[in-house]
Amino acid sequence: MRTVLVSVLASACLAAPALAQNRAAKPLEIYVVDVEGGNATLFVTPSGETVLIDTGNGGNQAARDAARIVEAAKDAGVTRIDHLIITHWHGDHFGGLQEVARQLPIAHYYDHGANVQATPATDDFFKTVYEPLTAKAMHTVVKPGDTIPVKDLKWTVVASAGNVLMKNLPGAGRPNQYCAESKPDAGDPTENAQSVSSYITFGKFRVVHMGDLTYNKELDLMCPNNRLGAADLFIVSHHGQAISNSPALVHALHPRAAIINNGTRKGGQPDAMKVLFSSPGLEDLWQMHFSLLSGQEYTVPGAFIANQIDQPDTAIPIGQWNPPAQGQQAPPAPVHNGKAYYFKITAQQDGTFTVTNMRNNFSKTYRPGTANATR
Ligand SMILES: [Zn+2]
Repeated sequence: MRTVLVSVLASACLAAPALAQNRAAKPLEIYVVDVEGGNATLFVTPSGETVLIDTGNGGNQAARDAARIVEAAKDAGVTRIDHLIITHWHGDHFGGLQEVARQLPIAHYYDHGANVQATPATDDFFKTVYEPLTAKAMHTVVKPGDTIPVKDLKWTVVASAGNVLMKNLPGAGRPNQYCAESKPDAGDPTENAQSVSSYITFGKFRVVHMGDLTYNKELDLMCPNNRLGAADLFIVSHHGQAISNSPALVHALHPRAAIINNGTRKGGQPDAMKVLFSSPGLEDLWQMHFSLLSGQEYTVPGAFIANQIDQPDTAIPIGQWNPPAQGQQAPPAPVHNGKAYYFKITAQQDGTFTVTNMRNNFSKTYRPGTANATR
């Protein structure tokens, strides 16, 4: 490809305009990293600016998850994180921070503010890790409507600390027909509902990442009017758990592709999968792992699944795995500490984007104008 470009440039003798065009065509790259049911999503802009959302798990999984994030950064050719968003104070989102920060210097931290679910472990994390790190960097507590200053992108915070955006994004604000089938639940007092959620555009390409925002907050944001409009790519909320991912959010966003960062036994639940598979205009769902919670009943073809486990089951489960009754201990989830694969998305300003499964190099390109033209 490079040789072809070089020879075209040489023969055309139009180096300056051609180079400018080439530069404008540099894509946005997004890496959805396997952190075993946690979250880590890396954005790398055409100018090399980086945004990382969440840092994977902590404890004895921190080194593993940080290494997987660093591997994605290496692929993108970047050595620092310009903006780190910690969506909320659950260990599968902030746990790997110390290890990540040791390997990739972080310039600016963003979070929703105080932890509403204090535990001795999180208190200790703030004292020994987060406060020292943020003291040496920039640190912003964000609220809905704030923008994160990233060159080439428009990055809008649409939820934070339990509050949601109260005005419409440009072009959005139509009545949301999917509110009728999305009934509020009992409410969620946990950190999930505090998640920093983002709506990001790169030219005409639009991607939504809500963190673990839960059902009622989705309804606050999306009902009765859809304040976000549509998206091309939806990073599925909350690992694909059914206490998030209402039709009012998912169906109204009308995504063409969705990527679910689930673990083998975390997320990818039948009720969430049903919402995704029935989402109008959704062409493909990509899964980080096969979900034992869904079995074959609700999974996608293997070409769309990025990761296996260290010791594959001898038989593929046809039915879903039934978790033990409330209060009973589940057996440990299948282990995956070996080679992990990320999804890599490259997006162009005209709205074209390609998703690649790095395990098998299966990829698909979504071109604008073929679907999803409406808000
Ligand atoms: Zn989570």
